[in-house]
Amino acid sequence: MSKLMLVFKNKAVFRILALGLLLVCANVYADLPSGIAMSVDVVQSKVSPSEQALVKVTYTNVGSTPKQLLRWETAFEGRVDEDFLTVTHEGRVLPYMGRHYKRAPATSADYISLAPGESRSQVVDINTGYHLDYKGEYLISPKGAAVAQKSPPVKLILSKDRPVSLKQTPIINSCDGDRPDQIDSALGAAESLAKRARDDMRATPVAFRRSVQRYKEWFGAYTATRWNAVQRNFDRIFSTLSGRTITFECDDSVPYFAYVYPGQPYDVYLGQAFWSAPMTGTDSKAGTIIHEVSHFNVVAATDDIEYGQSAARSLARTRPADAVRNADSHEYFAENTPSLPMFTATVDLVSSITVTEDLKTVVGGNVSLSASVSNVGSADAPSTTVTVRVSADSVISLADPVAGSAPVMALAGGEELAVDLSFKAPREEGQYWIGVCVTEVNGESGTDNNCSGGVPLTVRKMSLLSVLMLLLSDDD
Ligand SMILES: [Zn+2]
Repeated sequence: MSKLMLVFKNKAVFRILALGLLLVCANVYADLPSGIAMSVDVVQSKVSPSEQALVKVTYTNVGSTPKQLLRWETAFEGRVDEDFLTVTHEGRVLPYMGRHYKRAPATSADYISLAPGESRSQVVDINTGYHLDYKGEYLISPKGAAVAQKSPPVKLILSKDRPVSLKQTPIINSCDGDRPDQIDSALGAAESLAKRARDDMRATPVAFRRSVQRYKEWFGAYTATRWNAVQRNFDRIFSTLSGRTITFECDDSVPYFAYVYPGQPYDVYLGQAFWSAPMTGTDSKAGTIIHEVSHFNVVAATDDIEYGQSAARSLARTRPADAVRNADSHEYFAENTPSLPMFTATVDLVSSITVTEDLKTVVGGNVSLSASVSNVGSADAPSTTVTVRVSADSVISLADPVAGSAPVMALAGGEELAVDLSFKAPREEGQYWIGVCVTEVNGESGTDNNCSGGVPLTVRKMSLLSVLMLLLSDDD
């Protein structure tokens, strides 16, 4: 319906919003046949490492004709044998770690029929495809859905870190009483700490490495070469602790924690101080084992350049090239006491108005505009709203009155959404500025960029002709 008061119209408008609203409850996997929607739900919202992480995956035929679904790339195999979910932990996407099959050509038995409107679900343990090793919140969503078809991911909490259980039984010489048991526990704890250090180094996106507080604290200013050296060291320390048989010998003749001969892997000698050290934490039994193992030439060939936390911190600040080959620096990074973050996944929503011409209308007229909302952070943002603000000056803020609003769907880190908005112009003629503000979400890191800049809006008095046209129009 043509209306005089709709004087301007953005040329580059996409009508994503309407489509998005229709499909907001249905996640669609890109590689599924068209007309089949996929959604996920958790069976239990909190699980322990010894429990299965069960997720119910539902496939729905949203089309009008019967569909054949090949079960191979779906949950209908009863496992996650294909990378069909996106699982994130602390803002990091977990890599697919499941099976890769060589299969024979599909037969009719490999297909599942779905009548129009029919849904079928299958519960799978997502640990079969992704390794949920660390405690905290995991976000799970179907993979490959377009932004407009995305619903908020479902949450699953892992209550504790998964214990590492690869280690070889150590050989223990001349250690009495409960010492062999203590050594065995310390070796298990050392293996867990080394795995965490290795995984944390590997999982940090390159773009974030420069600002990792925990790395800076112990290894100093970032360079790619030094980061890679430390990462390689922890790769080797972990694979040694998990895959090699380590020989421990108790030597009460030395007052120190422990010692090794770098050319004699994997013999570790434990001195008096080892027995009074805590199992984990600063200068612990577990950390001492990491320290000693790092010395072996075949592992990381580290040196003892400085001892103790305070000297290690100042070594990182002043001589980072030495910190990355200092044994205690590796021990403290792995012990992580006090705990320092690697990178913190953030949510940061930004909005802007997409205009191609000046906004003009009559008093009380309808105005349409296109806005864009982006999540410039790295973590998923939940759904929220975007509001239109009318301002008397060019600066748009939350203090300006709301003239209209639209929903904004959940946005993954780096995603952008085009949103169409319409609102009624002020009832007084004059010069105004229009802006949009995306509503802050929980935990958002930067909220001073949630409002766009202002674009001018000219509001004129209604002419007799436009009044007539308005009366003839049947909208509103
Ligand atoms: Zn040493």
